[in-house]
Amino acid sequence: MKDTATESMIQAVSDRLESFGFVVHKVVGVNQTILGAIGDKRSVEPSEFEVMEGVHEVLRITVPYKLASRTFHPENTVIEVKCASFGGEQVSVIAGPCSVESEEQMYTIAREVKKNGGRGLRGGAFKPRTSPYAFQGMGEEGLRIMQTIGEELGMPVVSEIMEINQLDLMLRYVDILQVGARNMQNFSLLRELGTIRKPVLLKRGLAATIEELLMAAEYIMSGGNYQVIVCERGIRTFETYTRNTMDISAIPVTQKLSHLPIIADPSHGTGRRAKVAPMARAAVAAGANGLIIEVHHDPDRALSDGAQSLYPHQFQRLMEELRMIAWAIGKHI
Ligand code: PEP
Ligand code: MN
Repeated sequence: MKDTATESMIQAVSDRLESFGFVVHKVVGVNQTILGAIGDKRSVEPSEFEVMEGVHEVLRITVPYKLASRTFHPENTVIEVKCASFGGEQVSVIAGPCSVESEEQMYTIAREVKKNGGRGLRGGAFKPRTSPYAFQGMGEEGLRIMQTIGEELGMPVVSEIMEINQLDLMLRYVDILQVGARNMQNFSLLRELGTIRKPVLLKRGLAATIEELLMAAEYIMSGGNYQVIVCERGIRTFETYTRNTMDISAIPVTQKLSHLPIIADPSHGTGRRAKVAPMARAAVAAGANGLIIEVHHDPDRALSDGAQSLYPHQFQRLMEELRMIAWAIGKHI
């Protein structure tokens, strides 16, 4: 709509779109209101709307992800949760252990994360392990521990939801719900997450293209939950030196295609402690809106992903470096 369009003009266009059977998603920007019409494009000619009062331009969005597309929503989406913010000038670092193992473990690590400028606390309570015999997570007790510590330190907590039937439980304890790489195309779970009004951290699937990642985000958004943060966490390639191949280019590509914030996970992206800091620095330099990093005070005894977890002193050093990189590109940590 034109910047001069009145509320009643906007309403008239919206009503007309609905009368053609479209579902209308209204985006109110700083200068302009955009009406996103989702439905069968064959049923209508753009010119029928171009002549309506207050209409600036009618564009067909040809990409399959509409709500996630930058065409539909030119300004960055900024998602704020407590002291964390994703999509603006702040680069928010979420850190913590792969799994919550005990109250003492979580508290020790959380204090280090907070002290060094981390803005979110991670920890898995339900773990998607490759082996059914490996530690599967503490479950509700783990969530309770995270919530208590998160509240005490004033930090939002992020934890992975593996199944729909965990949703009520997760909503009681967690500020940001993580969808793991293995569940990126669990469409029934994504649909369910569209019904809630809490941010979702959606990780790129092990072999998913950027378009598939954005289509997964679209599933959540189509239910009305627009708070989706996507995450590059490495993809499967023929390379075996690292656990996954971290696709740094996915950061600027996603930001061009979509208004959604994108963060990077150099821990799962490399699987090797010594490679986490270089890739974290590269991700921030490439414009990532945040990072999610595994940190453990005693990684040799960690119940999962010890080999890729940073020691607290390494995390401290990394945060100092990231501050300088962020500053160089007009952002802050
Ligand atoms: C995790 O964050 O611990 C995790 C299992 O991540 P991913 O789904 O990316 O493998
Ligand atoms: Mn992990």
